[in-house]
Amino acid sequence: MTERWTGGCQCGAVRFAVEGPLGRASICHCRMCQKAFGSPFGALVSVPVAELIWTGERGRFQSSNKVTRGFCAGCGTPLTFEWGETYIDLAIAAFDRAGEITPAIQLDRESRLLWIDHVAALPGRPPQEAEAAAARMAKIVSYQHPDHD
Ligand SMILES: [Zn+2]
Repeated sequence: MTERWTGGCQCGAVRFAVEGPLGRASICHCRMCQKAFGSPFGALVSVPVAELIWTGERGRFQSSNKVTRGFCAGCGTPLTFEWGETYIDLAIAAFDRAGEITPAIQLDRESRLLWIDHVAALPGRPPQEAEAAAARMAKIVSYQHPDHD
């Protein structure tokens, strides 16, 4: 059975589909991934270029002499880490089934933001605040593209 994975940006202008098993999934703490993702780290999974189909045109930024970063020029969602001819990496959180892709390794761990080590121990919202937040959330109308084609 062939696995089929889909995903894309927040607005839906750029979508991707990839057939077959995914490669190595990682999180990268390097300063370039922090900037490119606007996030403490980048979460990426390798995919074979030959099995990758794009809908829509992604913006590109060459972040070094070796790597180009792809993103949606309309909504800004980071999408790719393009490092090779046969494989590139896609942003795990951009996948429709992001929760099914589990990183197996941390890269450039020495560059991590040190508070990352304590995230799991951070408290959640206190109950009274959580209630108010849930009420606010109930009124939000999402314009985000749904997690399917
Ligand atoms: Zn978009």
